[in-house]
Amino acid sequence: MLQSPAFRSSMLLVVVAACGIALTGCSETPNKDGQASGSTRSTPYTVVTTVGMVTDIVERVAGERAEVSGIIGTGVDPHLYKPTRNDIAQLQAADVVFYCGLLLEGKMTDALIKLGRSGKPIYAVTERIDPKYLLSPEGDEGHHDPHVWMDVTAWIQAVRVVAEALGEYDPPHAEEYRVNADNYSAELESLDAYVKGVIASIPGEHRVLVTAHDAFNYFGRAYGLRVVGIQGLSTESEAGLEDINRLVGLLVETGLPAVFVETSVADRNVKALIEGAAARGATVKIGGSLFSDAMGASGTYEGTYIGMLDHNATTIARALGGKAPERGFRDK
Ligand SMILES: [Zn+2]
Repeated sequence: MLQSPAFRSSMLLVVVAACGIALTGCSETPNKDGQASGSTRSTPYTVVTTVGMVTDIVERVAGERAEVSGIIGTGVDPHLYKPTRNDIAQLQAADVVFYCGLLLEGKMTDALIKLGRSGKPIYAVTERIDPKYLLSPEGDEGHHDPHVWMDVTAWIQAVRVVAEALGEYDPPHAEEYRVNADNYSAELESLDAYVKGVIASIPGEHRVLVTAHDAFNYFGRAYGLRVVGIQGLSTESEAGLEDINRLVGLLVETGLPAVFVETSVADRNVKALIEGAAARGATVKIGGSLFSDAMGASGTYEGTYIGMLDHNATTIARALGGKAPERGFRDK
């Protein structure tokens, strides 16, 4: 199920209406000099998010001003995630909600629409990304691939979206959110340069990324890899025997040394591929486990967006014959 343009614009209207209601609810509060400082929010206010990549942006941009909690944790597939009663209660109690959008959280759509209708400020971080950054799958133009975080430059747009949204919710601190967003974006720009460098070190004939599902198209576009997902854009679609045989042929022809599993997707298709290649005399390894739609455990380096991309780029470069520093981008 993909969302129609009409559906998207109606969601946007809901979001705009919700913001209007939220802003009229602001109250005048004196600052420490006893003067009215314009509308301000009691801090910390609560923000509820869906996937870790979105949580990470909000934590960096909101800083101490918000308590941020994410619903979809490490190793959990957002395409298939159904919100629990507890999640719904958490979403309803939040002051602001952010999600990825482009139907990544497919099974949460109804809950998110209902929430928007209730007048709560709710934002898809991909909603205001310049469409020139968005990919549409072949034969399905008009619908966008949701895995935007895989292109660091495109994801910087989402950082700006969060800063603008928090500035709308809490206008007196809009400048602070903008500064936080700029600082985080600068870190992401050096991450982008690191990923470009290590992927470029992979020999040309091995610049092919075979993974469990189609989450890496943005990564391939940004960093110069041909990308092949065994399952489609959503893990809801199943790979057939024919797909597997076609990919075995590709592995045998290219002599690709490694394919990759993903932390949030079952590895049976990747294993079938390796066995198929072995039956035709090709040795293909599992090059590592990539963070596609979920980050690592919270509190670890891989549990941050930068750590996630560093891990992926460093793992891919090494397994496909490129060079990457011993301890990756941040020496971690
Ligand atoms: Zn995905």
